[in-house]
Amino acid sequence: MSSVEDSSRPLKVLIVGAGFAGLTAAIECRKRGFDVILFEGNSSRRQLGDIISFGSNSGRIFRSWPGVEEKLDPKCHHSDGLDFRTYDDEFLCRQVWDAEAEWGKRFNGHRGEIHGVVWDHALSVGVDIRLSSKVQEYFETDTEAGVVVNGEKIAGDVVLAGDGVRSLARTIVLGFEDKPKSSGYAVYRAWMGTEKLKEDPLTAWLADPNTDHHVGWLGPDVHFLVATLQNGTAMSWVLTHKDEADVEESWSAPGYIEEAVKAIPNWAPICHAIIRATPEDRLVDWKLVFRDPLPTWIGPKRRIALIGDAAHPFLPTSIQGASQSMEDGVTAAVCLELAGKDNVPEAIRAYEKIRYPRVLATQRTGVTNRDAWHKADFDYVRKNPESVKLPRLDWILNFDCEKHAYDVYKETAESLKTDPDWKPNPVL
Ligand SMILES: Cc1cc2nc3c(=O)[nH]c(=O)nc-3n(C[C@H](O)[C@H](O)[C@H](O)COP(=O)(O)OP(=O)(O)OC[C@H]3O[C@@H](n4cnc5c(N)ncnc54)[C@H](O)[C@@H]3O)c2cc1C
Repeated sequence: MSSVEDSSRPLKVLIVGAGFAGLTAAIECRKRGFDVILFEGNSSRRQLGDIISFGSNSGRIFRSWPGVEEKLDPKCHHSDGLDFRTYDDEFLCRQVWDAEAEWGKRFNGHRGEIHGVVWDHALSVGVDIRLSSKVQEYFETDTEAGVVVNGEKIAGDVVLAGDGVRSLARTIVLGFEDKPKSSGYAVYRAWMGTEKLKEDPLTAWLADPNTDHHVGWLGPDVHFLVATLQNGTAMSWVLTHKDEADVEESWSAPGYIEEAVKAIPNWAPICHAIIRATPEDRLVDWKLVFRDPLPTWIGPKRRIALIGDAAHPFLPTSIQGASQSMEDGVTAAVCLELAGKDNVPEAIRAYEKIRYPRVLATQRTGVTNRDAWHKADFDYVRKNPESVKLPRLDWILNFDCEKHAYDVYKETAESLKTDPDWKPNPVL
């Protein structure tokens, strides 16, 4: 892999937001010898969140960072399959991941714990992470881009804005505020210890020190996914259900046990027992918001680019939100490397053109996966239990975004020269 020219000062990349998009972009930019400053609004690295899934497409990014896989392994869920059951607890089928083993390793675990490993890796490769640095303004000109943080104006060659679903940068890039919409669904989600599960014969088997379990109970317009990990000491569950309330883009809205039980009134006793074994302070009620795909991810001067959820929030049923955010970070870094310091706008346009269609196609799977479960005819499902298996798409999972960016950069940059008016086609 080449690095930026030695004869000139390194490219200066300003990154906003230390989520998985920002951290990945920062690590990949450091790998290429760029100067990187990463601004994070929070005053400390926060442990918030619960289960988060990284498919083999982003698993390969973790594995490319020395020492990271070894640190993640003991924290992550390890089972060879997902058992599907109906809401009244009839076994349907087991989806085994063998077939995709050659695509690479997946990592599922606690967001805070995985985030901690990636954060430490970013520090170890020299990323200058600045906490308590909430970006208040963005600017870009023909020759530079920058941010205003705590009243100080800081300029670089390019800004990669990974400031999440409530992105301020998105407003700057678009020129208007893009409001989220309700998806019509919400998720109760919890991460907890398994002590109480052990006390109940219905649920004790889940706290198995020898094997992690992954079970999905499916019913009309609701699904309930349970995963155990860390030698049977921890469990995470998510219950996706209909919800017409106003959207709130918050991870911390408190959830109430009896409300969660009410969302699945006639379900099997084991499902109620799992919910009732949850300490109420571990339960979050999170509204699933939706956004129409943005008309663009890049600023008018092509020196500010949105990455991660700021550009494209995903429904959890795509199981790709975090993975696609990481792919953004890698791709942006490759484009900046190949374009060179004098061609930042070319790199930023190529980043958008390479990433946009893939992200859009992956976003669609969030809706199709959810509807395949929620809108299922359960008479049909009982006769055809394999019909509930998740489609595992090789074009999403068996994908090396770094190699892809190296392969297509040149032709993409050329195509943008011959078609300077190219714009993404934001039709979901
Ligand atoms: C607290 C939290 C908990 C989450 N929990 C889960 C979970 O349990 N399961 C799951 O699947 N997904 C979870 N997610 C979402 C998931 O992490 C993202 O969908 C995915 O990883 C993409 O990440 P991202 O980097 O684009 O955005 P995010 O992870 O949202 O990161 C954005 C970062 O930008 C920072 N930021 C925002 N505005 C500014 C600003 N003006 N200046 C400086 N910094 C700013 C935020 O503090 C945040 O650290 C969570 C996100 C957050 C923020």
